[in-house]
Amino acid sequence: MTKRFVLIDRDGTINVEKHYLSDPDQLELYPGVAAAIRRLNQMDLGVVVVTNQSGIARGYFDLARLDEIHTRLFTMLEAEGAAIDGLYICPHGPDEDCTCRKPLPGMVDQAVADHHFDPRRAFMIGDKEVDVELGHGVGAVSFLVRTGHGPQFVESTKADYVVDDLPAAVNVIEGLLK
Ligand SMILES: [Mg+2]
Ligand SMILES: [Zn+2]
Repeated sequence: MTKRFVLIDRDGTINVEKHYLSDPDQLELYPGVAAAIRRLNQMDLGVVVVTNQSGIARGYFDLARLDEIHTRLFTMLEAEGAAIDGLYICPHGPDEDCTCRKPLPGMVDQAVADHHFDPRRAFMIGDKEVDVELGHGVGAVSFLVRTGHGPQFVESTKADYVVDDLPAAVNVIEGLLK
């Protein structure tokens, strides 16, 4: 049996939504997020972050700055014993016709190629309907969180589960795997 994976959106799900976060010092984790990711590690689930970063295409920040943000993110998580197996970004804008901008599956395809998991046995957690659509598209169980932009999608979402936040999603996953 291959390891199961949890696919997690970044902004509004792991860290507090700031409009086009462009400064590592603006990075702020939601409460309980690091502990929740640590629990996924302990449950022997893979953890991958999939994030649309059109701020690159829009010229708000560059890839070097994005790297600094992710170095700080990893440091903050590691400080609480939480580890991420992979992080995938779409740097493109909506009109670039790329294959990786959520809800398109390019980032998940790449993660599957790198980590060899079955996306139909994965879980997808995010605060926007594009995250839910990505999850459905690859056959994963999908969670909409009420942090970030979540509240505006709660009424119409096609998510399998609507939960308060990432730690709540991890609670549900823990129950599903029992
Ligand atoms: Mg988000
Ligand atoms: Zn892309």
